[in-house]
Parts: sequence; C-alpha cells; structure tokens
Amino acid sequence: MSYLSIKNLNKYYKITNQPDFHVLKSIDLDLDKGELVSIIGESGSGKSTLMNVIGGLDSDFSGDVVVGGDNIANFSQKDMVLYHKKKVGFVFQSFNLVSHLSVLENVSLAMTLSNVSKKIRQERAKELLEVLGLKEQLHKKPNQLSGGQKQRVAIARALINDPDVIIADEPTGALDSETTEQVLDILESIAADGKLVIMVTHSSRVAQRSNRVITIADGQIKKDETFERHFKKGFHVAAKADQTVKQLSLFSAIKLALLNMKEKLSRNILIALGSSIGIMSVVLMLSLGKGVNDYLNDQMQKNVNPTIAEAQMPVETSTSNGDDEQPDLAGPTSKPFAQSDLDKLATIDHVTEVSKAYSNFSFGGSALTYDDQSYSFMNFSTISAIISPNDIVAGEMPDDQTIMVNQSLAEKINQDDPDSLVGQTVSIVLTVDTKQITGDFKISGIYNPNGPSAGIAGALDSVQFTYDHLKKLYEDNGLELEPNAAYLVVDDRQHTDQVKQDIKSLGYSGGDADILADTFSQMIDIFTYVLTGVAAISLVVSAIMILTVMYISVVERTQEIGVMKAIGARKKDIRRIFVSEAFLIGLFGGLIGIGVALLLTVIGNNLIMDLFDTTILHPTLAYLLFGIGISIFISMIASLIPAYSASRLDPVDALRHD
Ligand code: ADP
Ligand code: MG
Repeated sequence: MSYLSIKNLNKYYKITNQPDFHVLKSIDLDLDKGELVSIIGESGSGKSTLMNVIGGLDSDFSGDVVVGGDNIANFSQKDMVLYHKKKVGFVFQSFNLVSHLSVLENVSLAMTLSNVSKKIRQERAKELLEVLGLKEQLHKKPNQLSGGQKQRVAIARALINDPDVIIADEPTGALDSETTEQVLDILESIAADGKLVIMVTHSSRVAQRSNRVITIADGQIKKDETFERHFKKGFHVAAKADQTVKQLSLFSAIKLALLNMKEKLSRNILIALGSSIGIMSVVLMLSLGKGVNDYLNDQMQKNVNPTIAEAQMPVETSTSNGDDEQPDLAGPTSKPFAQSDLDKLATIDHVTEVSKAYSNFSFGGSALTYDDQSYSFMNFSTISAIISPNDIVAGEMPDDQTIMVNQSLAEKINQDDPDSLVGQTVSIVLTVDTKQITGDFKISGIYNPNGPSAGIAGALDSVQFTYDHLKKLYEDNGLELEPNAAYLVVDDRQHTDQVKQDIKSLGYSGGDADILADTFSQMIDIFTYVLTGVAAISLVVSAIMILTVMYISVVERTQEIGVMKAIGARKKDIRRIFVSEAFLIGLFGGLIGIGVALLLTVIGNNLIMDLFDTTILHPTLAYLLFGIGISIFISMIASLIPAYSASRLDPVDALRHD
C-alpha cells in the first residue's frame, strides 16, 4: 500500500440559502514517499481544498485519507495535533511567517509548541537554515528578507519536525523565475531525501520538475501522469532525534506573548498606562480610608485611659406604648446595673476591678449658683475612670466633699478667668426624678477631656462627684444611687480590646467613646467603599479597553493563528498565548498603578504633614498586592472572550485571511 492513500474522498461546502457545493468528487489517489507531485488545474478546481484535507486542516469530508497507516478521517483532535507536529509540514504561497518573531524563532516555533528545550530547537533550526543558505539571516525579522528567502525560511519551518509529507500550496506563486528555481531545487532535494512532497502550481514549467503531475478539474482527477525523473540529492536533513511530544509550556507561552508585545510596544505601554489609572485610584482610595481611620483611632487612643474599658447596660427599645413616662430628652435610657451584672463583668479575663459609675442627663432641672448668678447644666455624673489626671486643666480631682466642673461650664461662670473658680464654693441643685438635692460644694478642679473620648459628657456642661459622695447625697435625700455605667480596669493595655469585645459578647454596650468610634469607623468604611467603587468604574473602562485591543490583536494575528494551528498548536495553546499577553498587560498596568499611587502617597502625605502635622494616606502591602492582583484578574477576564475566539478560528479560513 502507498504511503498516502485516498479512497472515495468527497467534500461539500455548505453555502447559505443554496444547495451544498460538491467541491471534491470521489477522489482516489495513491502517493508515495520520495515523490515530488504537482497538482495542477484551473483556479477554483479544488486543489487547495484537497491539500487542506490531506494536511488535516479540514476534517469535514467523507471517505478515507490514510497516511502512514493511519486514517485521518478517524482522528481525534489530539491525533490531529500530533499529525501536525510529526507527520506533515506546510509551505504557503504567501509564506505566512510570524512577523514579530525572528527567522530562527519562526523556524523553531513548532518545536517551542512541543516544549523542546531551547538549545535543541535552536541547533536544529540553525542546521536547517544553514542547509537552505540562510546562515546569515538568523536574527532578521521576516520583513527584512526577500521573497525567495522568506519561502526558504518557511520550508525550514516545515522541515523542523522531520515530517513525512510536505504540502506546498503554490509555493512559487509569489516568486520570480530565479528564486522559483531555487525553491524547486530545495523541494526536489526533500523528495530525494525520501519525503513525499505535494505541491500545487499553476505553472507548467514548475510542474515539469516533478515526477508526477495530477490534473484536477471541477473537483475530479482528470489526468495522472508519471515521468521518469532523477532527483538531485542536494542536501540531507538529519532525522530528528525522536522526542516525546510535549505541550507548549506556560513559560514559553508567556515568552511568545512578550515577543508579540515588544513588537507593539507603544500600544501596549498605552494600554498598561490606561489600566493603571484605575488601579492607582483604587489603591489611593483604600489608603485614604485607612489613613482617616488610623487618624481617628489615634486621636481616640490619645484621650482614653488605655487600661479602662467602659460598659453600659444595653439600650432598651421600649415596647410600652403608654405616655406615662416622660420621654428622656437626652436619648434612650438604660436600666441600671444590678450587682449580678457587675459580678458578671468582673468574670471577664484580665479585668482586675469593676468600678461603678453614674451619669444623669436632664433638661433644665439642675443648676449651679455662684455670685448670685444661676447657671443650668444638663449632666452630672460620678467621676469616671475615663477621666485621667491629664484632663484636669486646673486644680485636682474631687474628694468625697468637693466637686469638679468641666471647662465649658467654668467658662460660662467666669469667661475671663475660669481657673479662678478652683477653691470657690458654689450652691448646687440637682433634680432626680421629682426630688431635688441641694447643697454647697467647693470646686476642687476643672477638667476638659478633649477629643471624641469625652463623649457626650465632654461636650455638655457637667458637674462631677465621686461615686461615694453622690451616693451619700442620694441616701440623705431618701434616694438610691444605682450605677448606669461600669468601668472595667484591665491588667494590661494590650488586653483592653479583648475586654471591650467580651463586654459586647456578654450583651452590654461599650462606652460612649467606643460607640462613637464604632460609628465613625463604620461611616469611614462606607465612605471608603463608595470612593473605591467610583474608582473601580475606571477598572471597568480598562477592562473594555483591553477587550477591544485583544480583539484587534486577534484580527491582526489571524494568519499567525492559522500557521500555529497548522504546525500543531492546540486550542489551549492559542488561548494560553493570548491570556498570557493579558496577564502581562495586567501585571505591568498594576505595577505602574501602584508605583504612581506610592508616589502620590509620598507627595500627598508630605503636603498634609506640612499643613496638619499628620499623614492621611496609609497604603498597606495588602492594598498594593490587591491592586496588582485585581489588575491581572481584570485583564485576564477581559481577554477570555478574544482568546477563546482566537482558539476557535478555523485554520483554513485563518490562513486565507489577508
Ligand atoms: P483552487 O485552490 O483549485 O483554486 P479551492 O480549493 O480553493 O480551489 O476552491 C474550490 C472551490 O470551492 C471554489 O469554487 C471555491 O470558490 C470554493 N470554496 C473554497 N472554499 C470555500 C468555502 N469555505 N465555502 C464555500 N466555497 C468554497
Ligand atoms: Mg488554491
């Protein structure tokens, strides 16, 4: 049996709204290794279609095409890839070299797809190129070569994997007569070397060089003539050491992508720049959110005794619909702490002491009289552990006889010299429910807790007693003082956060300052998310940009994709090359983005530092990595559709594309 045996080959082209076009009609043909076969016939007679079937580029036919014992009609996709890699090599009229690869890289591309080591594939490519007289051209790009040289490069590429069959569709169609002879010499040598060379030609002069001329007309073989020829053995290409056929490695895919990107450098830099803007804004917004949060926390920490955690009874949402209770104007009320509550709080790890505290808010009921002038105040409370000696601006903490007023109240009494009130005695009326507590008290000191830790008590005019003092005053008036806040003294400041958590998990609220802090950081989180969301819109824009550019790239590289498929690229390999390209764009865009963000951070922080003595942009490593990650992710996602459509291109269509 012949090496190549075609039996009853029929092929139809589907044409929309018309009956199928019968392009190859019951073709029977036997060809053998060592033959140089010319296929001639008028344009449109079906020559190229036949070549595509034999070459495994077109599998949509009926009949048998047996090559070296295997019927390609029964090939799976995987078999076909192996067939392209090992058995068949193509030479095209329009050369179809990959323009951004050097001569050497073009020739070794098929081996790159099989993951052959660089050393071996370059040795093999150099050997072939030398044999074909292209030793001096190894590192040129295809557009620096003449037509004859290009076709010799294409022949070297077809020979790289030592195939049994060379299919050449009008290989001399674009060449002048002199280079045509050179190429024919080479094809003749290949046949003499024991391979089957099938070439399509228009020219009878070219056909004369072959030992067999097959004439096709209207999809049928009309003539099959054999001639006695002795082919000159011009060169011998060493059989390739048989290697297990592997697949394109990820590394090679990235390298191929990089070579293509280098070719279109300025375009790719522009895309990377464009997509970096979104990354930069996202990183900056996250850094800003963190900066503001850090600033507020910092302010909070400065003003809070770090080893004290405050607890309040949970705020009750009243279920009673009666109006019998006077609505508390200072906000919802909490139940007082019972001894059992205090005992429960005392069981929290690292708490050394639970001190009771009380704070009362009311409108107009309480007043202080000094120098015959009366001043009303809204809040009186027991001296809380939150107030540290640092907060006292004049005098000292009260004892069980004296009181302390806050600065805002002191300034109302004596605008010019509030500190002079220390040591003075004032009359005080406290309203508790319906009862009034009155007395004369000496002012021990003035305090002014600043910052958010002061909470409501810091903002309102207020008077402070020691707990025991106020308790005694209550008892003297037939009232009972019940604590409505508790201060937990923590053994070490590093446990304070944990204690605050535990207070909440036991079902109590934190202090005003903590509640305020939580609210603030929630607001800042929302603010950060909104800003980041706005910044993310530019990411969508860059995704669309990358998608568009990738599509353009697919169109530009259609022929290249066709060639890759003809030399054994899998769909997966094609996808990989495009996705690698997107990966690189994303990586570069991300790097530029975080680079610019860091630069702006330094500039911005310096400016803010000069003006406000603090920094406001706090990028973290996580934000930077997130920036790069999201950049890569977005461009890879954007590339999926173009990469998929590239991998699905029909090689025959792709190769016809110009
Ligand atoms: P040749 O190479 O001999 O010039 P082809 O094999 O390229 O001829 O084409 C044979 C015939 O099939 C022509 O009439 C051509 O118009 C038609 N043909 C080729 N490709 C297609 C296709 N994809 N769909 C429909 N008709 C096609
Ligand atoms: Mg043709």
